[in-house]
Amino acid sequence: MIFDTIAAISTPRGEGGIGIVRISGDLALDILEKIFIPASEKNVKELKTFTINYGKLINEKKEIIDEVLVSVMKAPKTYTKEDIVEINCHGGYLVTEKVLELVLRNGARHAEQGEFTKRAFINGRIDLTQAEAVMDLIHSKTDKSISLSLEQLRGDLRIKIYELKKMLLDVTAHVNVVLDYPEEGIDDPLPDNLYDNLKEVYSQCDDLINSYDTGKMIKEGIKTAIVGKPNVGKSSLLNALLREERAIVTHVAGTTRDVIEEIINVKGIPLIIVDTAGIRKTEDIVENIGVEKSKELIEKADLVLFVVDSSTEITKEDIEIYEKVKNKKVLGILNKTDLDKKIDISEFKEINSFIEISAKEKIGIKDIEDSIYNLVISGDIENNSQKLVITNVRHKSALEKTKDSIKNIFETIDMGMPMDLIAIDLRVALDSLSEITGEISTEDLLDHVFSNFCVGK
Ligand code: GDP
Ligand code: ZN
Repeated sequence: MIFDTIAAISTPRGEGGIGIVRISGDLALDILEKIFIPASEKNVKELKTFTINYGKLINEKKEIIDEVLVSVMKAPKTYTKEDIVEINCHGGYLVTEKVLELVLRNGARHAEQGEFTKRAFINGRIDLTQAEAVMDLIHSKTDKSISLSLEQLRGDLRIKIYELKKMLLDVTAHVNVVLDYPEEGIDDPLPDNLYDNLKEVYSQCDDLINSYDTGKMIKEGIKTAIVGKPNVGKSSLLNALLREERAIVTHVAGTTRDVIEEIINVKGIPLIIVDTAGIRKTEDIVENIGVEKSKELIEKADLVLFVVDSSTEITKEDIEIYEKVKNKKVLGILNKTDLDKKIDISEFKEINSFIEISAKEKIGIKDIEDSIYNLVISGDIENNSQKLVITNVRHKSALEKTKDSIKNIFETIDMGMPMDLIAIDLRVALDSLSEITGEISTEDLLDHVFSNFCVGK
């Protein structure tokens, strides 16, 4: 396939020290020849592949735009399998934009979102799961989700899908023989080993589908609400959690005014503390609407930390909030245990146990982290870590289609219905699996996958 030459800034916007303009396509070196003078005084066309070259960028009027480092990577062993040139500009973002304009004026087209990766896919360098992994990697929030993306990038999911397809193809081969040679009189629908294949594929699809919730949570973070009536120590707890955690991943200003999301990394799982603005403003009126606000936060949360004050007796407000949280995934937190205990937590009977802490003295914070971790993973992560986890909804629905088709096959067999039906369902099951790796890909599907990319990737 022949494409035009594309270019984009592939470093994030903002005040970085350097910016990179990436060019991919047949014209990449022609364009470079027009705008770059290597310090080595070589002709651009003579620059060797996989070299980094220092020199000057010039515009049409021979004015120097920037001093740059240019990486030259010649096809086919490149990210897109095309000629790639990357210009490292030193002059900050404005200069980088100028360089991009210069490149565009000299024959490149501005790349669409994800277009470099789309080319890598179309030129056969990576499959669709790997392309999606690139995207996830760009958006990953913590180590754990990065390692999930890396697994996918190495092709673990693809290998698994091939295994499943292989098992289904064995069944298909048998079914086709039976259908093609009716005179052989084979009417035993499926030999045991092939029936086992179907059962195996069914249960592996099921496992992968079930891994989605965990995978999604690990990837996107767990929306966590810290709730409790005013003065129980929510702000203190948040601060303790933030301080405990050496690697605070990022602070994100939310879209709504006043809403700040704080992301805490709990053993590799990103915990997104929702509405910390509300928690932070300890002393002002925001706390007065505490109960109402809490209810709202609880609705939105994946996980609730329900904080009560052990040094006072339970009040109506505690009970009101408790009624809201008891049906959620909730951790009870008994704060201020450095003081004399006055509370009787048996009122909160639906909450199995309370973690005893002192936010002020920084006691019990690690217990909270351990409990959160266990609650999210629901099991032993060390055993689970060998298992493949899917994080992509497109993969999930394709696996569901496969699973449904196999279920149909079991029914067909149970009811003694004709083999043709089995063949049809096998086809659907195989096609759905192929959709995951992109061996069967409609234009729609491709656009859907690649439109989520950033430009420049
Ligand atoms: P919030 O209104 O729930 O956010 O509560 P704050 O975190 O603002 O705390 C309210 C008051 O309780 C402050 O004076 C804190 O210093 C105090 N406090 C919070 N945690 C503890 C604790 O573990 N022990 C003691 N003794 N005081 C605490
Ligand atoms: Zn507060």
